Amino acid sequence: MNIVLLGAPGAGKGTQAAQLAASLKIPHISTGDIFRKNMDEKTPIGLVARSYIDLGKLVPDDVTTEIVRARLEEADCKEGFILDGFPRTVAQAEALSRFSEIDAVIDVDVPLEKLMKRLTGRRVCASCHESFHVDFIGARSDCPHCGGELTHRDDDKEETVKKRLEVYKAQTEPLISFYKKSDKLIAVNGDQPVQKVTEEIFARLKK
Ligand code: AMP
Repeated sequence: MNIVLLGAPGAGKGTQAAQLAASLKIPHISTGDIFRKNMDEKTPIGLVARSYIDLGKLVPDDVTTEIVRARLEEADCKEGFILDGFPRTVAQAEALSRFSEIDAVIDVDVPLEKLMKRLTGRRVCASCHESFHVDFIGARSDCPHCGGELTHRDDDKEETVKKRLEVYKAQTEPLISFYKKSDKLIAVNGDQPVQKVTEEIFARLKK
């Protein structure tokens, strides 16, 4: 199954993508994670990506699309994949349709006003990449699951989050109507406990 996860920053796409990938035994491809890895390793792509990501802007379509196109050609994607954070613009969605057939597009819907709190309080494990909210973990700095170091992403700081949410509204939200036309869109309520969201996704995928 080739699946796209849509949704605003902080909607829980990454968490749900990881669950789906583990259950369906297909790779979880997060463009944000690919960019962060390149930034950590200071590769040429990482340097380009940082100049956009630090400002809350999208990395240009041509750079992002080429990364995904090449990744989907790898052998582990033959039986399917979960795309998390791609496409984020109509141009990316059009490009994707030229090199891959998508079976389902899951929109994880969370009211925009709740996302600021989710993102600014988010801490991400540097080792297993799982996310937690300070409301649940308090001030601890180690991952409750693997003991790795919890980090506060630079782009989860308030000013950058504001910009990211504006960019989502302007450039990514139009993808919902884009995919509605194709009859592949599954809208799920992302404003409920993680496990409930996962159950809703699986129930809707089986239909
Ligand atoms: P994420 O981890 O998905 O929130 O992505 C972090 C940042 O990476 C985004 O705010 C963008 O700057 C960049 N990024 C991730 N995916 C894309 C994409 N499909 N197109 C352009 N920029 C992206």
